[in-house]
Amino acid sequence: MEGNAKRIDHIGIAVYSIEKALPFYEDVLQLKLLAIEEVDSQGVRVAFLEIGQSKIELLEPLSEKSPIFSFLKKKGEGIHHIAVGVSNIDARIEELKAKGVQMVHDKAVEGAGGAHIAFIHPKSANGALVEFCEKK
Ligand code: ZN
Repeated sequence: MEGNAKRIDHIGIAVYSIEKALPFYEDVLQLKLLAIEEVDSQGVRVAFLEIGQSKIELLEPLSEKSPIFSFLKKKGEGIHHIAVGVSNIDARIEELKAKGVQMVHDKAVEGAGGAHIAFIHPKSANGALVEFCEKK
């Protein structure tokens, strides 16, 4: 099979407040802030910071219904997921399902920046939450 996973697209970090978290990433790590946007489908506000060809995504819950809110309550701030950049995400999801991999999303959903994303269940990924991410 041709290598379809292109690179680490981004690493997602759960935070209580993007505003409070940004000074560390911008001033201390000296990363460039690319964008801040709300992703209603995921119940989050996200900030993307550029680090070489990859990004760091800060995720702040928009409400107590957000999965990020539950994560923060359970585990506190920290690394939430690793996003693998892929092409043909729909075909990749079907391929994983055929291999018995448990998905959080059975079909790609809209993520930040209009990307198509799908999460693989941590049960199938050694406890890590892995996101597939396809840019348009
Ligand atoms: Zn992500």
